[in-house]
Amino acid sequence: MQVYYSNTHRLHNPPFELFDGGQHMPYLENPERMERILSALKQQDWAEILEPENFGLDPVLAVHDADYVDFLRTAYEEWTQVKTTYEKKALLPATFPPRGWSHRPKSLLGRAGYYMFDLSAPIMDGTYQAALGSVNCALSGAKAIAGGKSSAFALCRPPGHHAGKSFCGGYCYLNNAAIAANWLSAVGKVAILDIDYHAGNGTQDIFYERGDVLTLSIHADPDAEYPAFCGYADETGAGQGSGLHRNFPLPAETDDAQYLSALGETLTLLRSFSPAFLVVSAGMDLYSGDPLGTFKVTREGIRQIGARLAALGLPTLIVMEGGYNNAALGENITTLLEKFS
Ligand SMILES: [Zn+2]
Repeated sequence: MQVYYSNTHRLHNPPFELFDGGQHMPYLENPERMERILSALKQQDWAEILEPENFGLDPVLAVHDADYVDFLRTAYEEWTQVKTTYEKKALLPATFPPRGWSHRPKSLLGRAGYYMFDLSAPIMDGTYQAALGSVNCALSGAKAIAGGKSSAFALCRPPGHHAGKSFCGGYCYLNNAAIAANWLSAVGKVAILDIDYHAGNGTQDIFYERGDVLTLSIHADPDAEYPAFCGYADETGAGQGSGLHRNFPLPAETDDAQYLSALGETLTLLRSFSPAFLVVSAGMDLYSGDPLGTFKVTREGIRQIGARLAALGLPTLIVMEGGYNNAALGENITTLLEKFS
């Protein structure tokens, strides 16, 4: 199996994050995540680790608004020019618009509040470059399956599924899976299945009104979990996309049997949509013991998820999303992928 990985992710290494309650914590979405996965993949004889190709900005701008991408590109440099009386650690705003406030201000911090929906996607010196490297991994994997490979794995960091057309948040800046899926949709019909523990609100935002891409997400009930405001069962697409988005919110402590039952429902929808390509947003925070998760899905559960997805027999691009139990990440990913290899 071709695995696309770029070292550029290391350029993005925020020094901290703010948890609910105002607690400063080490940034959970850290470079070590990739080191763990990479070293586990290097021990597999089926994994061929490759540098991604550079696809340029066109596939990114086909999904994200140009003004938002421009903000990501220039924000850090602008931030270095802003005079403050305190040490600047990362570009992170403290003011966000409530419902109904729609002006986009000129000030950098105003725009940061406009484009960010939470406090977990700070912009650092190398964030934009890392995000582009991550996109190129997903696009290279997409090109591999469009070219006849049965599967490919994009080892993306930063992750992407919380990033919408014009917003970042949840450790995500550019939506790798959505950009790859949109690129593939010019070749054939695409479905996206998001198995990250958290609702894929960015992917939902991007495809919500599109009639050509089916998007499905299995995740923790947003009534109790991040991202709180999106990912409910009654959000099913709009306009031409009516009926083409489905959320499967699950309760805390969901175990293998409950998870696989929800997965079975998504497989039925996938089969009836009969896509030419499947893109899987693979977050390993569904694993029991993840610091950001509450599910009780075991490694055997992950093995079965991988096996059932592989059994669909579709050309499949698996895109790395979340997963923060670093010690378990490598084996969880090789377990998920083994039936595709
Ligand atoms: Zn997640």
